[in-house]
Amino acid sequence: MRLKNVPGSREAVAASEFAINDPAALKGLWAEEAFKNTNPIHIEVGMGKGKFISQLAALHPEINYIGIEKYSSVLIRAIEKMEKDPLPNLRFIRMDAEDIEDVFAKDEISRIYLNFSDPWPKDRHAKRRLPSRRFLERFANILSDEGTIEFKTDNRVLFEFALEEIEPAGWKLLASTFDLHNDEKLSEGNIMTEYEEKFSAIGNPICKYIIAKNNA
Ligand code: SAM
Repeated sequence: MRLKNVPGSREAVAASEFAINDPAALKGLWAEEAFKNTNPIHIEVGMGKGKFISQLAALHPEINYIGIEKYSSVLIRAIEKMEKDPLPNLRFIRMDAEDIEDVFAKDEISRIYLNFSDPWPKDRHAKRRLPSRRFLERFANILSDEGTIEFKTDNRVLFEFALEEIEPAGWKLLASTFDLHNDEKLSEGNIMTEYEEKFSAIGNPICKYIIAKNNA
């Protein structure tokens, strides 16, 4: 994705009460320390400006949400929104998801959302794709046994790659569609992300899968 540098965003993210600066210090303690409750935790990896996760958090006060984003120039937009309309059950981390196992303990997370993840089209960059087996291994180490990953994209090539990664990575497919907005069941309660709005507006069908760890 093309990134516009926002001067001062790194400092503003670091100074915000809504962004966690030392996330590894909360490993295994997120619910009790960051949210002061025992509610389940759902995360979005690569949340961009945070439209999707903010809407979810407003709708589900019984869930704790954490948005993860690599770039402060993007994350700052979510933080500005939270400063206007704070939500007690939403926090952000500026980090590369490669290090996710340093930040969350085994079983600490109940659901992972991947929305319109960067496609990294070159073969040699396949391991950087968030639905790749390398990332699925990391996610398996933080997700509870009943937990799920929900992945949406308009990029058919990336989606087909993601489908092929499921089994070799030790996961199982629970549901999938190549046209989410025309899938009665899977579109129920769907919250559109920023990219989803943009790409569905130009006629791109949206693909979605839901996967779980294969504990059999
Ligand atoms: N999820 C949002 C949406 O659907 O509107 C944003 C999609 S945007 C194409 C992908 C986002 O993922 C970018 O903001 C990018 O910086 C972030 N991202 C990509 N790889 C990441 C990683 N390894 N760790 C954290 N964020 C990442």
